[in-house]
Parts: sequence; C-alpha cells; structure tokens
Amino acid sequence: MSLYDYLLTQDGIITKESLLYPFEERGLQFGDGVYEVIRIYQGSFDLLEEHIERLYRSAEAIRLEVPFAKDTLIASLGQLTEKNDVQTDAKLYLQVTRGSAPREHSFPDVPSNFYAYIEPSERPVSLLQKGVRTILADDIRWDLCYIKSLNLLPNILAKQTAKDKGAFEAILHKDGIVTEGSSSNVFIIKDHILFTHPAAKNILHGCVRSRVLALAPNTGLQVEETAFTTDQLLQADEVFITSTTSEIMPVIEIEGKQIGDGTPGDNTRALQRAYEKESGIQATAFA
Ligand code: PMP
Repeated sequence: MSLYDYLLTQDGIITKESLLYPFEERGLQFGDGVYEVIRIYQGSFDLLEEHIERLYRSAEAIRLEVPFAKDTLIASLGQLTEKNDVQTDAKLYLQVTRGSAPREHSFPDVPSNFYAYIEPSERPVSLLQKGVRTILADDIRWDLCYIKSLNLLPNILAKQTAKDKGAFEAILHKDGIVTEGSSSNVFIIKDHILFTHPAAKNILHGCVRSRVLALAPNTGLQVEETAFTTDQLLQADEVFITSTTSEIMPVIEIEGKQIGDGTPGDNTRALQRAYEKESGIQATAFA
C-alpha cells in the first residue's frame, strides 16, 4: 500500500515528491531525533493528544525543539488528513530531527526538521482473533527507553530474530525481568490480576498500555504495575502485547511453550472488546 500524496513539514503541507533531505541530516547520520506512530480509524485520529504529549516529552528529554506549538501541530495534522482525504484505517508517522548541518556530534545551531506522512493500515483482525507466537530476547537497549528515539537498532534486531523464527514479536527481558516487546508493551494475567512493567525510564510508556490500564478494572481485573520475571510470564494464565498498530494482541505461545490452552483467554477477549468500544471501532467477531 502506498503513501498518501501529501506530507506535513515545518514549512507546511507539501507533496511527497517535493521532500528532499540533504545527505548531512541528523536523523540520517546519528538517529538524532524522536518519532511517533498514531492510529487513524476511518479517517479520525485515535489517542492523538496522548501521542502528541509523548512526542514533546521525548523531544524535551533530548533537548530538541518541536517546530510547532502543540495546538498548532494538532490542528495541522487534522489538515493533513483532510488534504489527503483519509477515510480508511491508516497510520501517521511523524519525526523530528535536530536538522541538517555539517556532521559533528555536538548540537548544530540550525532549525529542527519535521515531517509527517500517512499510509493506509488495516487492523490485524485475523491475528487479533487467533493470537500470535513470540520469542524471548535479551533487552540490550540503553536506560532511557521512555524516549521514543529514532535509534532502534536493538529493537530491529530483536524483531528480525522473531521473524526468522516465525514469531510475531520478541519479548525483551533484562536479568530475567520482562521489560516490554521490541515494539510493544507486555501484560500478563494471573488469578485475575493484570501485571505490566511500571512506567519507568527503561520502557516506552505506550499509549495503548495506558488505555488498557484504565479499562481493566471495568472488566473485573485488578491492576498491578509491577515487573514480572520470564518464569512468571511463561506460567501466566494469559499474556498479551499492546501497541498502536497491534492494539491488544493475544500471545498464545512463547519460545514454543503454549500459554494457557493455546488460545486467547477470556480476560484478554473482554479487554479487546472494551478497547474496541472505547476507540469507537468496529467490533471484531471473537470466537
Ligand atoms: N514499546 C515499544 C518499544 C514500542 O516501539 C511501542 C510502539 N510504539 C510500544 C511499546 C507501544 O506504544 P504505543 O501503545 O504507544 O504504540
């Protein structure tokens, strides 16, 4: 599926063909920037303010200026969906980098570069119904994973290892403690208690994670933002991962070991239904 034709830059809305980046660009050469991926359901943004808040938190953490005021950015992203006449399910990618300047590690005195584009993106309905297989991988990332930085090498390598093994996601752990997935947050349910790693500096504070924590008490689950071990993960009643594009994705297998009876659990199903209701999206027929 191809991109929609128009992008938003710090200079306004332009066609994708007219975006030209110099080879000396901080994002290209250093990964010196931050990004967001925002869900669009039937032409409307989901969790938009939460993503924008996180973008500004990430930018501030690396002393990077977003070249828009928050409300201007929100309005401009709305104009971008209108200009592209987005009606379908889609996702918006945006990034801010420290600009274009001769290559030197220290900060240049130049304006930031910004772009945002939209591409069609269907909901993974079949996987949401069936659940996915995962693997375990060492979390070899740095200490500040709450910053949504462009530096994603460890995440990419873990995801590729998962893919090579026919799995959907790599669940990361540090010294036996589960942190998050390579591009998702990880939850377990044991005896009707929902556990996930606390929103500390070493994980990304997922927007879907926050929504799940808010919805869980309504589905009869007790919530514990407490870290758990890989043993607890493998012995959980139910496991799922969350992300903007994967929503609430049941995990039915980890490293070849079946979770529960190998099908998505009832509590996960209840959360999936609550999530669809909260997002105002079409309900999936769950078996
Ligand atoms: N952790 C990581 C490392 C991620 O890349 C993502 C996806 N952005 C998430 C968690 C989930 O975040 P969100 O729910 O905001 O998509």
